[in-house]
This record gives sequence, C-alpha cells and structure tokens, in this order.
Amino acid sequence: MAADLVPYTTVQETHIQLTNEANANAHDIHCPACKSLILKRGVATQVEHDASVNLPSYTSTTAPPFNWAVPTMMHFENIGFSHAVDGRRFLACADCEGGPVGYAGEGTFLIAGDRVRYGVGR
Ligand SMILES: [Zn+2]
Repeated sequence: MAADLVPYTTVQETHIQLTNEANANAHDIHCPACKSLILKRGVATQVEHDASVNLPSYTSTTAPPFNWAVPTMMHFENIGFSHAVDGRRFLACADCEGGPVGYAGEGTFLIAGDRVRYGVGR
C-alpha cells in the first residue's frame, strides 16, 4: 500500500502520522473521487474544525475531525467552489467537482481532514 492514496479511515486505523514537525501536511492531499492533487505536502497547516460549521453530506460525517488550512487559493494545485449554502462557500475538486471537501473561512481556506486522500509513501 506504499503508493496508495489512503482515505482518512485507513489513516486512523493504521495510525499514519499526517503532520510534520511544523504541523503541516506530511503527505500530498488528493481528491477522494478522481485522485487529482489538491494540496502538495507541506503547504497546509492542521487546524481544529470550527464546530459551528457543518459540511453538506458527502461521506458519513459532517463535522471533520480537523481541517487543513491555507491562506490563499494560490496554495492549491487544484480546487474549485461548489454551490453556496447559507452564504458559505464550499470547496470542491476542480477536475471532477467532487465534494465539498472543505470551505472558505475568514481569510483562510479549509480542507476537511477526513474528506481527502493522502499520498502516503509517495
Ligand atoms: Zn476530483
């Protein structure tokens, strides 16, 4: 499984370390559907999820265990906006429109830790 794109459930089960010593993402982050690269390793910071924000249903959960945060759209390799819900703009894969995989916050863009796949061992 060294070169697999790993879903969050597997990350949990196998206790894969997702952050590096700088609290940044240690692995490339990919779209769960089409596997497009969303964030390169090292560009996003792990932050707690704002519990008041629920993402529209995509996988089984609506409140991520944590988010990956970047300050600008330019940090993404590939991202798009999905429809807005209650004035909030959600992020989706620009290639396949899969998602939402995160949302736009105040001066930050957040990718849900459990809605992406991780390029572990790549
Ligand atoms: Zn995609």
